[in-house]
Amino acid sequence: MLKVQNLKKYFGGVKAVDDCSFEVNERTITALIGPNGAGKSTVFNLISGLLNPDSGKIIFTNSNITGLKPEEISNLGISRLFQQTKLFNNLTVKENLFLAFDNEDTKFFKNLFRVNRISKKKQEKIKEMLKLVDMEKFENQLTRDLSYGQKRLIELLRTILNPHKFLILDEPVAGVTPKLREKIGEILQKLENQGETILLIEHDMNFTLKLADIVVVMEKGRVIAQGKPEEIRNNPRVLDAYLGE
Ligand code: ADP
Ligand code: MG
Repeated sequence: MLKVQNLKKYFGGVKAVDDCSFEVNERTITALIGPNGAGKSTVFNLISGLLNPDSGKIIFTNSNITGLKPEEISNLGISRLFQQTKLFNNLTVKENLFLAFDNEDTKFFKNLFRVNRISKKKQEKIKEMLKLVDMEKFENQLTRDLSYGQKRLIELLRTILNPHKFLILDEPVAGVTPKLREKIGEILQKLENQGETILLIEHDMNFTLKLADIVVVMEKGRVIAQGKPEEIRNNPRVLDAYLGE
């Protein structure tokens, strides 16, 4: 699905991403982990076209997408959950979800003014998604009245509703309660069983080692280990990197 090859991105003297290579296979959950500042979000910015690499290549479904614009990459089928919340606070939950059906290149305002005429099919899909996270009752609530965890869930639903082939999720469970963390884990597992391909960034090792098929560990811009969770769990370099925090 995705190949990241010798990717480099420096910010002045900071080697945010430094010769980083890894692959994501179809129908798997791959986790990108590592201490704060390891370069994980920068890798996501490079994959989604918000930043251009200094060197290296990004191959998505056999095409070279290096240097394409974010809209182009989104249209090719990469849907991203950002580390920071990007919901429209003054719209309802349903309206926020409705806006997710369209790609970056479809006209935002056109959709905004049509919110009252959401097609039946889309209404049903929205209901189905809300049910998945036990939030059917919140359909008509303003997003600004939701708790942090509920906002993250709606945002995750938006990322999933956005037409895609590949999901990249930046810290989907950071800052949420242990209960919700478990629920999000179950949702991601269910998506994988349905055939989705997921790359997620997560700081919490336990969550990641339970969920992921393959784990890629970054430290100071470099990949220091990759493999199955059982190979990562006791890797001394990985333990060192986390202890150093
Ligand atoms: P992570 O997501 O693993 O916590 P980041 O990719 O956010 O790490 O950051 C990696 C390093 O690059 C950090 O030292 C961070 O301060 C730096 N960095 C990230 N983005 C920028 C930027 N736009 N300008 C300057 N430095 C940045
Ligand atoms: Mg980050």
